[in-house]
Parts: sequence; structure tokens; C-alpha cells
Amino acid sequence: MKKKLRRKTTKILTIAGADPSGGAGVQADLRTFHYFGLLASSVVTAVTAQNEKKFISVNAVSAKVLRDQLHSVGPCDFVKIGMLGTKENAQEVIRYLKKTKPKCVVLDPVLCSTTGTRLLEKTALPLLIQGLFPLCTLVTPNLLEASILTDLPVTNLDQMKAAAITLLKNSPGLKSVLIKGGHLQDSATDLLYDGKNFHLFSGKRFSKSFHGTGCVLSSAILAELSQNQSMKESVSKAKKYVSMMMR
Ligand code: PLP
Repeated sequence: MKKKLRRKTTKILTIAGADPSGGAGVQADLRTFHYFGLLASSVVTAVTAQNEKKFISVNAVSAKVLRDQLHSVGPCDFVKIGMLGTKENAQEVIRYLKKTKPKCVVLDPVLCSTTGTRLLEKTALPLLIQGLFPLCTLVTPNLLEASILTDLPVTNLDQMKAAAITLLKNSPGLKSVLIKGGHLQDSATDLLYDGKNFHLFSGKRFSKSFHGTGCVLSSAILAELSQNQSMKESVSKAKKYVSMMMR
């Protein structure tokens, strides 16, 4: 652990799926917040059964179960959102954000597991883009997610820029987008776009693919933002943390 845990003067929350192997989801998020010295609440959207080799099953919780958890936690200042599972759960989260108005929301638009299992119903996509993204400070798709969300090819830097512009245009209210280039052919450059400027973050390409890196990155960004770092600085520091974890 890096720092002494800070008690809840600033309330932090992760809303995500549970991964018993600990690599992704709520478990990875809480571990990341802990590293940054932050205590966080957690609300579970789905229960997965998986390990490093195999994805066995996924069961989303009902909207009522999600609502009860959100109600029990109450308003939070900084919210990270990961896997949602169903359209109904996305709707519950939209209701929660509209009611509680957090200062900052970072959303990792989890559509599939690394092994290819669908983690969000296809019918939830329009609601995600039109209802949920507009309430977010930052959305962090990977190349495949950016392509599905924009209906554009996203395989190189120019296409990443075009997708970032489209993502912000289609979700008025969304402040910024980070397209993760971990699967680019020749580099692992991420692209941040805030509606005005593009920032590139180059990184090392890892030969092994780890599940949960997106969860850890978005949680680390939220952790940095909660400590009054700028978006650019938060992404840069979070990327360094992920690289260190993957070494
Ligand atoms: N959230 C949960 C609960 C998962 O099980 C997974 C992948 O299996 C993810 C998120 C996505 O993880 P990644 O960070 O690899 O995109």
C-alpha cells in the first residue's frame, strides 16, 4: 500500500461486475483504490465466474437489487462505472447519477470479456450512448469498443481521432474520451480528447493479454482525479501504474 488510507471525506464508489479471480471488476477496482490510499464503496451489477483461463458464467443482478445497493450507498463525489450487464441496470445507474450528481464520473464501457463473453446486452447500446455517456466526465473504450460505439473502423491513430470526435458529438454532455490503443498494430498509444485538444500517451505493448487492465486503468484515473489532478496528469499517472502492475 502506497499511503495511509484516507477516511471518507471524499466519497468514492465503483459500480461494476464481480470477478472471483480478482483480476477484473469490483475486486480490481477496490484493490486499485486501496493502492492509492483511498477507501471506496462498491455496488455489484453482475456476478461472473471466471479465472485466468476460462470464463464460466455471468449473471446480472436485477435492477431492484442494483437500486437497493445504490440507495444504501447514497450520493458519492467520484464514481467509476464498469460492467453493467443489462439495459435495466444501465437505466438504474442513469437514475442514480441524475439524482445524486457526482462531481466526476469515469466510465469504462465494458462490452465483452477478454475471452469474448458478452458483458452488456446489445440492446443497451443506444441508452449507453444517449443516456449514460452524457453524464460522464470520461469514457475509456478500447479500440473494439470505440468501433462498436461509433460504428466506425478504429485500427489506427487517425481513426482513433475520428472515433473520439464522434463519441463526444453523439453524447452531448460527455466531457472527454480516452481511446485505449493497447491492441494497435505497432504501438500501445492511448488518445485523450476533451473536445478541443488531443493528447497522446505512448506505452509499451505487452505480449501477454491480461484481463482487468481496463478496470485498473479507469479506477486509477478516478483515484488521481479525486486528488485534484488534471485529466491529462491523471491519465499519465494511471498509465504508469498499470504498466508497473503488468511488469
Ligand atoms: N468487468 C468484469 C466483471 C469482467 O469480468 C471483465 C472481464 O472479464 C471486465 C470488466 C473487462 O475487463 P478488461 O479490463 O479486461 O476490459
